[in-house]
Amino acid sequence: MNILLINAGSSSLKYQLFDMTDESVLAKGICERIGMEGSILKHSPTNGESVKYSEPMPNHRAAIELVFKALTVEECGVINNMDEIDAVGHRVLHGADKFSESVLINSDVEKVIEEAIPLGPLHNPANLMGIRACKEIMPNTPQVAVFDTAFHQSIPEKAFLYALPYEYYEKYKIRRYGFHGSSHRFVSARAAELLSRTGDPEFKVITCHLGNGSSFAAVKGGVCIDTSMGLTPLEGIPMGTRSGSVDPAVLEFIMSHERIDIAEMTEILNKKSGVLGVSGISSDFRDLENAYEDGNIMATLALDIFNYSGTKMIGAYAAAMGGLDAIVFTAGIGENDPFVREQMCSTLGFLGVKIDPEKNTVRGKETDLSAPGATVRTLLIPTNEELVIARDTKDIVTKLTLAESAR
Ligand code: AMP
Repeated sequence: MNILLINAGSSSLKYQLFDMTDESVLAKGICERIGMEGSILKHSPTNGESVKYSEPMPNHRAAIELVFKALTVEECGVINNMDEIDAVGHRVLHGADKFSESVLINSDVEKVIEEAIPLGPLHNPANLMGIRACKEIMPNTPQVAVFDTAFHQSIPEKAFLYALPYEYYEKYKIRRYGFHGSSHRFVSARAAELLSRTGDPEFKVITCHLGNGSSFAAVKGGVCIDTSMGLTPLEGIPMGTRSGSVDPAVLEFIMSHERIDIAEMTEILNKKSGVLGVSGISSDFRDLENAYEDGNIMATLALDIFNYSGTKMIGAYAAAMGGLDAIVFTAGIGENDPFVREQMCSTLGFLGVKIDPEKNTVRGKETDLSAPGATVRTLLIPTNEELVIARDTKDIVTKLTLAESAR
């Protein structure tokens, strides 16, 4: 079974084609500058040379048509024709409170994704464009939606409700949703597997997805009970360019003193804050750590704030779960940055967390980083959100096929 995975953004579209017989990736690529001058498709077959197509892509439909061309042409193709694609899995940001798992897309599902646009204004419209373009081009191929919010739908009310007048929840569904759900789900399940605790309702793990956007999840017995991102991916610890949580009164203070409106304030919180805002240097941790090694005080401060916020999050979630068995580091920073891992865990010895400095030098490879005597295991597990989407799509389509053949 071949599954095409689509991750559609407003002006970009990433894709991967999986062969699910062995979960291998046949090809992957990205369309950039959709709807703009100079649009380009970069296509990389796993067993071949990468190619670039500089062709106009006025919309997502044109982009997907070009993806099909790249996947099927002799020069760089990996399949003979589109009929060899059995299903399409779409990464969708926001499923509101309607989806706690992945679903087969029909008009009702599309409607919910559309209704959730106010909650995910940057992503849901693009996700829908990707879905509708695929439906037009391949109307008989099943399409599955995999939501970034789904894994967090198990969070109890006391953890997802903000202490605002309850009517705003009733009227607008203002609450914590959480994001990076496929990643937290993948690495928490893998941690349970590695530690032979799959299915154990008492297995308590904190997953730290540290990338351009960073979020934490408390997962007990495979069920997410809390997460650090909120209504939007702005809440939680400071990130590359996002502020993370701040005193809400700060907004009004800055807006009145700087004479800026809410749009500009939102832009500052999303794009000009976080470790970039504090350091004034970069949102990239490689740049920050180079500057730190050169003795740059502001880079040091930005890293300190990030690491300290992470430490507090781990402490809070250990308390929320009434104990802790494992911490997982994943995503760009979590997988590649020994300094952050070491610093974030440096005061957690009282919980039983102890990292082996030698093992902690590893980057991007599944590793148990724990030192002898640690009672809480610290694991590096590379995330694979794409594989989660491909597996969910396969499961849903297989069930569909079985149901159809039973009729
Ligand atoms: P992601 O959003 O998961 O792609 O992660 C992107 C982040 O990973 C960027 O902020 C990079 O700074 C960080 N990153 C990638 N490689 C490294 C590395 N070798 N050391 C430190 N940070 C890294």
